[in-house]
Order: sequence, then structure tokens, then C-alpha cells
Amino acid sequence: MIGRQTALERLHKSSISAKDIANQFWCEKQMELYYTNGQKTTAQMDRGTQLHETLQVEVFVPLTIEPASYADRVYKTAYENVAAVNTLMEKSLARELRVYGSVNGYRLSGQIDELQLREGKVCIIENKTTDARRTLTSAYVLPHTVQVMLYKKTLDEMRSGAYTYDNYAVSNRIKEMKMSEQFMNGLRGMNLKDEYMSLEGMLKRMFETMRGLPEISDSLEIHYIDRNTGKVGNELRVMYDKQLLGMQLVDALKYWNGEREARPVPEEDAWKCRICRFFGKECTVWYNKGSNASAR
Ligand code: SF4
Repeated sequence: MIGRQTALERLHKSSISAKDIANQFWCEKQMELYYTNGQKTTAQMDRGTQLHETLQVEVFVPLTIEPASYADRVYKTAYENVAAVNTLMEKSLARELRVYGSVNGYRLSGQIDELQLREGKVCIIENKTTDARRTLTSAYVLPHTVQVMLYKKTLDEMRSGAYTYDNYAVSNRIKEMKMSEQFMNGLRGMNLKDEYMSLEGMLKRMFETMRGLPEISDSLEIHYIDRNTGKVGNELRVMYDKQLLGMQLVDALKYWNGEREARPVPEEDAWKCRICRFFGKECTVWYNKGSNASAR
């Protein structure tokens, strides 16, 4: 145990995202440094966000009332999740579905990029913007496969009732939250049923809607979208492996529990350092060590 603090306490976080866990499988130290040094957006990342937003608008129009408080944002997400599931059932396609769960007592959240209904099953798709010339090595795709498997586990648990509204409400202290008057006024103008005029009511509706989802396919997809053309270049299919994910989570959670410090990449993966913004500055593990980081 490092001191008395868990990683969540040190990073001032209250929950772990599926992306955090995925990023641990690229470089855990880099994942932590992004939290302690702030995330810089690059032109490439902006282009990725734009592509995601364009894809989302194709499918459904999000709630237009501007949230003014955290509770408003939680409501809005629950509303949009219900809309996304309805769209999936009507059009066999939905985007940006938020999922919630728990791993070893930690709150977990994630946002699935895309869902498709095929032959009665829900297929999970993660879209990654990349360079079309990029080779899909196992090191490159590992974080993405962990991410889609985590989405499958979390969505399965919401659907089966292993993770319910009650679990969510207790760990997120929903009863203590209050929506802003401004947001409530906006909702009043939408003629919603009375039962959906409260945060609790909309969240219960969201959990109920998720329980009604068809079976979630074990075949998970990662689509690599060329950042220059916006078109899908490569598609990777991964079969859900519950046992493998379980082992990966045991390892990842040792960091969050404070059982070990953030791990840098091993020497054979030091080539990743060359494309890391912390290399030689906040992280000098493989700097000037004659490793792959400088040799390749
Ligand atoms: S320089 Fe290398 S080891 Fe250090 S954070 Fe970046 S990728 Fe990880």
C-alpha cells in the first residue's frame, strides 16, 4: 500500500471509467500522468471528437435543455440513454450509450460509441480514430479490446439486474441531489409524464429500459476510422472472454487499490515512449537508457 491513499483519492476521482482501465493496458504511468498534469487536446483529438459528434447527431437529437447542475447532467444522460435504447429498437442503430456498474466496490462508468441490433442481438462497437497506415499490432489493440469487453460486462450486468437502480442510487447518493429550477422549468415545457419529472423517476426509467434490451452479443467490434477520410478502415472482431477480463481487472485494480504504483511500460514496449508527451519530462524511466525508446 502506498501511504494510506488509494489511487482514486490521490487523483481526486470518485469513479473509474472504462477508458481509464483500458488506458492502463497501454501505459499505466501515462494514464496517471494525464490526470496529474491535465489533458491537452491536440488537433488530432479534436478531429476525433468532431467525427464522434457527427456520428451521434445522425441518430437522435439530444435533450436541448442546458443542464445547470450535476443533478441536471445526470438526468440528461438518463433521458438520452432511454432515447438511445428506443432508437436502437426502432432503427437497429444507436450511439453514445452510457453504462454504469461496479468493479470490486468501485463505481465504474463508460460510454459505448455504437450499438447495432443484428439478428436479435445487440452488438457493441467501439470507434477509434486512427491513421489508415497504422498496423494493428497486439500492443496497439489491447486497450481497445479491454474497453469493449468492459462495456459488454457492464451492459450485461445492467440488463440482467445484477446492477440495479438501487445500487446506482446508493453509490451516487441520488436522494441527496437536486435539479436546478431552470432545468425543471425546461422539463415542464416538454409535457413529460409526472413520473419522469424527477431525477429518481428518469433514472428508474433508464434502468428499466436497459433491462429490456435484447441479449448482448459476445462478438465485439472495434472500427478503426481513418482520421483523414472519416471512413472505417479496419474492423476488428473480438470474442468476449469473461475469464480473461476477470484476470485483467484483478491486475488493473491493484493500482486503484493502492497496492502498487503506476507501472511504466516494460523495456520491450519502450517504443511507446517516443510518442508520449511525458517522455523525458514528467517521465524519465526509459529516457537516455539506450532502450527501444531511443533505438527505434
Ligand atoms: S514515457 Fe513511456 S513509460 Fe513514461 S509515461 Fe510515457 S509511455 Fe509510459
